[in-house]
Amino acid sequence: MMNLTNKKSLYALISSFTLCVVALGALTMATADEPQANKPLDPETTDWSKVDWKERLTSEQFYVTRKAGTERPFKNEYWDNKKEGTYECVCCGLPLYTSDTKYKSGTGWPSFFKPIDEKAIAEFEDRTWFSVRTETRCSRCDAHLGHVFEDGPQPTGLRYCMNSAALMFVPADKSEE
Ligand SMILES: [Zn+2]
Repeated sequence: MMNLTNKKSLYALISSFTLCVVALGALTMATADEPQANKPLDPETTDWSKVDWKERLTSEQFYVTRKAGTERPFKNEYWDNKKEGTYECVCCGLPLYTSDTKYKSGTGWPSFFKPIDEKAIAEFEDRTWFSVRTETRCSRCDAHLGHVFEDGPQPTGLRYCMNSAALMFVPADKSEE
């Protein structure tokens, strides 16, 4: 016959074992759901037109970058991000903007007055939504990023209105490693 103390420790053992199983299950699920965009593709060998973006991106990232979608203002990851660092293309990792060209535009989307390199951003005429706008895409992998408008601050007078879902923020302390 088991005494009370033994019973108690048996219950403790069973409940901690159950907790472990639940935690392990949650961890496995989280890993399976995680977007794979952070595992970088080699720019030297990748044919960007043949990448299975649906597999690598979250549905929001896919909708924005590959279907030229627009995420909701203020409900996105970086509109209010004030940390120092670099914003890369979420699809191919090309550095696009630095935090020192990010400014508060009041639009609810991350806004920059200048890209790292003008060659990184490709511009196209966009005639949807009954207006003519300038669409911006990643020059390397053709990801839709957002639009550029001519109402930005000096010195450029430009407003690169980006979707957070098209960007991957790399904090300055990490990129220096
Ligand atoms: Zn790209």
